[in-house]
Amino acid sequence: ALQCGIVGLPNVGKSTLFNCLSNARAQSANYPFCTIEPNVGIINVPDERLIELEKIDKPERVVPATIEFVDIAGLVKGASKGEGLGNKFLANIRETDAIIHILRCFEDDNVTHVDGSIDPVRDKETIDIELQLKDLETIESRIEKVAKKAKAGADKTASKTLEILNRYKEVLESGQAGRVVTLDETEQELMKDLHLLTTKPVLYVCNVKDSELQTGNNHVEAVKEAVKDENAEVIMIAAATEADIAELESYEERQMFLEDMGLKEPGVNKLIKAAYRLLNLETFFTTGKDEARAWTFKKDTKAPQAAGVIHTDFEKGFIKAEVIKYDDYVSLRSEQACREAGKIAIEGKGYVVQDGDVIHFRFNV
Ligand code: GDP
Repeated sequence: ALQCGIVGLPNVGKSTLFNCLSNARAQSANYPFCTIEPNVGIINVPDERLIELEKIDKPERVVPATIEFVDIAGLVKGASKGEGLGNKFLANIRETDAIIHILRCFEDDNVTHVDGSIDPVRDKETIDIELQLKDLETIESRIEKVAKKAKAGADKTASKTLEILNRYKEVLESGQAGRVVTLDETEQELMKDLHLLTTKPVLYVCNVKDSELQTGNNHVEAVKEAVKDENAEVIMIAAATEADIAELESYEERQMFLEDMGLKEPGVNKLIKAAYRLLNLETFFTTGKDEARAWTFKKDTKAPQAAGVIHTDFEKGFIKAEVIKYDDYVSLRSEQACREAGKIAIEGKGYVVQDGDVIHFRFNV
């Protein structure tokens, strides 16, 4: 499963948020593998469409899509030089597919800040510098290896690889993230096992007081200004309040609490959905009397590979996909009715699966 790493300086609200996320999982249950490590949680992706399908088909099981979150605690200044347990945490980040960077935008004298004041832009830079230094280390050791090969003349791609590595080096040395380097397809192929930390997609989460959720505050504005060229999403969340919501027993109580605050859904839902977008993921559905289920695929996946998400045999033996648009399914309320209304499209191997498709795969065994 794809994984998002939660990073940020100490005391910005990472564990508070992580615990709320884990709690969201506990509440909707029925995923078989949720105990991994203490800092890794498998989280259900909230999806109103799956709830609608459940109402229509009343299946025995409802299985939501999931993503994994990892709480990467302990990143501090000097981490790239091994301060704290720095290198271990940086290695954890390398395993993830995307980064959720939590920034403290709330004032509270009772919660100390490692650098003595609230300044999320400075905090972001502190973390970024550690990630960039680590990447620089990766790049430099790679350059050394590749340069030897280039010299020996044995490897034809070596000089091209070297050129790209140097491009990264320059960008990182100028204090920017590796993600500002754009590569074409061949270049990407050459870099595919490099796994830089600063090329992973990032989402910024500003942790604010609940009273500032609607309006934002100066810290949030400063963050938005600082990241405006990064093409990254910035969302606000009130982690302490999320923890209060997560403690409420029933769905009704939680809804009332949210309504009082003028919110439609818990902030963690917003966060999970944003993370899903960040990972470039979309959802197709299968539904029937046994099970309604949301399946995750990478945007722009073709039908056989999407079938492979369910089972490798589905991909190998793929014949066709019978596709109903979600809106048609919800208005006509059964596969049969959709068939009669001519709302089932028969799609072949070249079909690019769309978010929200309700699919019945046909395959040879
Ligand atoms: P971490 O070190 O980033 O994992 O931070 P924690 O989640 O452990 O939070 C550090 C402290 O800040 C705890 O005492 C939390 O209760 C508190 N805290 C977290 N989020 C908020 C918030 O939104 N507002 C306030 N006032 N306190 C918070």
